[in-house]
Amino acid sequence: MRHVVSLLVLWSVLWPSVGAANDAAAGLRGLVEQSQAQVKVDPERSRKLAEQALQQLAGLPDADLQVRAHLLLCDYHSERDGAAAQRHVAEARALLPQLKRRGLAAGVLGCEGTLQEAAGENTRAIELYEQQVALAEKTQDDEMQADALFNRGHLRGVRGEFASGLADLKRSRALFERLQMPFHALTVENTIAILYNRMGDHVQARHYYESALKAQAAAGLQREQAVTQYNLGRSLENLREWDAAQQAFDSVLKLSRELSYPRGIAYALRGQAAVQNARNEPTVALALLDQATEVQKTLPDARLRAQIQLQRGIALRLLHRLPESAAALHEALKVFSDGESLAEQAATHGALSQTLAEMGDWRGAFEQQSRFKAATDQVLTRQLDERFATLKVEYDNAARDREMALLQQSQKVTEHALVQERLAGRLLSAVIVLAGILLVVLGVLLWRHRRTSATMRGLAMTDELTGLPNRRAALTELEAQMAKAEPNCALLLADIDLFKAINDNHGHLAGDQILRAVAEAVRAIGGDVKSPAACLSRFGGEEFIAVLPKVSLDDALVAAERFRERVAALDVSRHTPGRSVTISVGVTRLAPGDTLSSLLRRADEALYAAKDGGRNCVVSRVVSRVAPEPVVNDAGDEEGEATPSVLPA
Ligand code: GH3
Ligand code: MG
Ligand code: MG
Repeated sequence: MRHVVSLLVLWSVLWPSVGAANDAAAGLRGLVEQSQAQVKVDPERSRKLAEQALQQLAGLPDADLQVRAHLLLCDYHSERDGAAAQRHVAEARALLPQLKRRGLAAGVLGCEGTLQEAAGENTRAIELYEQQVALAEKTQDDEMQADALFNRGHLRGVRGEFASGLADLKRSRALFERLQMPFHALTVENTIAILYNRMGDHVQARHYYESALKAQAAAGLQREQAVTQYNLGRSLENLREWDAAQQAFDSVLKLSRELSYPRGIAYALRGQAAVQNARNEPTVALALLDQATEVQKTLPDARLRAQIQLQRGIALRLLHRLPESAAALHEALKVFSDGESLAEQAATHGALSQTLAEMGDWRGAFEQQSRFKAATDQVLTRQLDERFATLKVEYDNAARDREMALLQQSQKVTEHALVQERLAGRLLSAVIVLAGILLVVLGVLLWRHRRTSATMRGLAMTDELTGLPNRRAALTELEAQMAKAEPNCALLLADIDLFKAINDNHGHLAGDQILRAVAEAVRAIGGDVKSPAACLSRFGGEEFIAVLPKVSLDDALVAAERFRERVAALDVSRHTPGRSVTISVGVTRLAPGDTLSSLLRRADEALYAAKDGGRNCVVSRVVSRVAPEPVVNDAGDEEGEATPSVLPA
């Protein structure tokens, strides 16, 4: 009891602190989730929330939440500050061994890949994305999987692997939709549009961008709007719809300035410059590109720099600053070749060919023209191949979806069967336990029944007044002796002399006490004959009988005499003042041919002979064998005699 009380006291002391810790943990989780929700809506707010969460997590560490916050910050900085992003990757990496949600490790790989991609290391980036997809798949983390497929699909598209890129992106979009992350799904859809654009299907791409823009505007996703608007501008640029392209890039610039989104600003300036080049306004274009370069310097984006250099090369050629143009174009070409950006490579070869031709380097111009043609052919062939492949991938995806559905169905059936089996197992255990309980109960009942039966039997075979076996016990024992193969048994039948007078003169209660006193003497017969099998019982009224198996007549007579003497010597003065008690005893032995009645009758005759002989004496009556039941007269055929062996005292 004292323990219970002290436990209760301890609990009531600890409970508030436990509750507070839970509240704090829930608050931190909320912070990280809010930051994640803001990624596409308000990146600055998302960053602040993630930083705040990390600060608080320093006091209440939780590896999962910490890694999630680092990933959000890595994503934020990957477009702005490469070194900061690297720091978050390193910190997240250090926490990996403590993760509960293993799939988050895939997110770290994804962030590393993004940084490599930003640095133009596309081969290394795609390796990291492959690992990210594999890990997300292995840990069955749908959110990480959606993110990984997005990364890989996007980069595959950049590398001109349109079909596999599209397949990844479509799976990613489906996962984000299933996870009810509509903003992320929208970003993926945008990227799908970029791929159509790169495949040369600008009409289709433009259509995608315009519908995405509406959805983003409705959801208030301003940064996403800026990106989509820029991509729309690129489509229009490819379609040579310069006015529309100009409009798109103008609005990107406005929006990005409002958002202080440097990357958007740099891209918008590049777009505006491209339009100015197309309109043969290279001076305006160069001024815009200088601004773009200023902004770009702060950004870890090699491809953006190459795109700026491509436009600069074109503007410089238009201004006849040919060597500078060639240098800018060579620089761009190097990045595009490293990044395997075939379409951009083709465009740069074309521009360089024109510059070299104007420089009079006909050989170089021819070479660049050939490369331009080869790259363009390659892009076109690839577009054709990829269109076929896209159809094939779509077919494969449909087939895989169908297979997945079948697999899930069969998995459900298996799970159901397992549940049933478990249930059956549980039922079986319950049945076994119940059967065990039933057996124990039955055992207890049986034991109690046996004990009660034994008690009942004891009661039924015992005389209440003296505690000696009763007449029924004596008769049962006699029958048992007679049923033996070689019956061998002596019998003593005793009767208290003139007992009626005792009752009459001293009362019935005194009579009972005398009966008890004589019963003690009866018990002593067992010691006299040394027969543990002796059955010494009260035969009824004031009569006693001793069944003495394997006791000879002589020994029986001695025992009877001792018995008689012992009774005569009893001090019964308390009960019957001035009067002693005596008994008369008839002795006989079981003879061949005896029945129960013949045996008892003979014992009775011996007893009566003792009474007739004056009482307080022993008389025996034995026969060598008993003839079949007497037919003529009762004792005529019997041999033997009745002799008082001891004279009345
Ligand atoms: P005898 O010497 O011829 O045997 O004379 P007796 O008086 O002993 O014989 P009788 O058969 O006339 O009397 C037996 C008496 O024993 C009659 C009966 O009331 C008495 N009796 C029988 N059972 C009990 C008992 O349990 N308690 C008492 N107090 N008396 C009993
Ligand atoms: Mg009697
Ligand atoms: Mg009597």
